[in-house]
Amino acid sequence: MSSEGLCRVCGLHFDRSIMTRHLGVCLTRRPLERGRRQKTFWLFVEAARQASCWLYLESPLVVRLSLLGRFLRDLWPEEEMKGTFVIAGRRYEDPVAEDTVVGESTSRADALLGAILTTGLRFTYVCKASGALLWRLTVVGQQERAWKGRQMQVLAHSLSVSPSGRRFS
Ligand SMILES: [Zn+2]
Repeated sequence: MSSEGLCRVCGLHFDRSIMTRHLGVCLTRRPLERGRRQKTFWLFVEAARQASCWLYLESPLVVRLSLLGRFLRDLWPEEEMKGTFVIAGRRYEDPVAEDTVVGESTSRADALLGAILTTGLRFTYVCKASGALLWRLTVVGQQERAWKGRQMQVLAHSLSVSPSGRRFS
């Protein structure tokens, strides 16, 4: 099974094993965005049931967790299922449903990424109904640069996943 992926910054293909290193170099060469300077996270996202399905995502710290959840659901639209983020032992329900009981170990997924994520942190997204592990996520790094508003952007992805070209905001 191919572990090759597409870097959407330069348009070239690279193996998954060197994509992190490649992006580190490639991102310093990309044209500057317009907009106010702000901090962004660089996330690695991997499908739990399909290791060949992975992508890198960049997102401002001011984006809400619920937007990240929407992004993950849109990746596999045929599996339109509600999910829950599990971050450092705490559950963040997404999307917020009427039956969600927000208690001691549960929060709504409306927190800002910058308030709950840190570089190096690993977390998961599980199916709310079955508890099945859907996605594994890692905060690879953080940077500060010019960025347009509250948008997420796919930096690179495996060839088995084809996220739409649009940005999520
Ligand atoms: Zn590149």
